[in-house]
Amino acid sequence: MQVLLIEDDPSLAEGLKKSLDREGFTVNHLARGKPAIHAVSTAAPDMVVLDLGLPDIDGQEVLKAIRKKDAELPVLILTARASLEDKVTGLDNGADDYLAKPFETDELLARLRVFERRLSSFKHAGMAIGPVMLDSKAQVVTVDGHAIDLSRREFMLLKILMENAGRVQTRDSLESKLYSWGEEIASNAIEVHIHHLRKKLPEQFIRTVRGVGYSIKPA
Ligand code: CA
Repeated sequence: MQVLLIEDDPSLAEGLKKSLDREGFTVNHLARGKPAIHAVSTAAPDMVVLDLGLPDIDGQEVLKAIRKKDAELPVLILTARASLEDKVTGLDNGADDYLAKPFETDELLARLRVFERRLSSFKHAGMAIGPVMLDSKAQVVTVDGHAIDLSRREFMLLKILMENAGRVQTRDSLESKLYSWGEEIASNAIEVHIHHLRKKLPEQFIRTVRGVGYSIKPA
């Protein structure tokens, strides 16, 4: 799950980034609203954590702009101004949930897990293509009924390919879904993950589209 974190307080952002990362989320962080609006289109996050008090534009404006682009993207707003009015305006503008600062990190993680569950029940909790079954709730992959052992990134990679079966995924788009910005990535990282995945999957399950990327044939 890729989280776009929009928060201008550097120490809070750093702390959240670490906690979310530990929980298995991929986090991209921005401290300003305008680039964040842009990033919603370019980075295709799965969910957004948005601070309402930003230095360049009001978080409510960011929220409205996000909603215009994507009506479904889960957004949790953070507000230091614990006034009822802010929360109500935020929810009216399409936020899915809110937390008033200060909050416990565990509370935020619990709220994001609710988003995650909603997304995965929504986006095929269990998918089967040929002999390969992927259960994103249980985080299990089976081939002909036998569970296979995958690393976190291998699992995410397979999930993206299966969810998009029939469509070619470019190396760049896979990289941006699997890694945070600025995270060090070997130039052949995706190839290496694919190589390991292939050893555990039926032959020809993941097809290479030369010079472009990878795809899986739909069921
Ligand atoms: Ca702030």
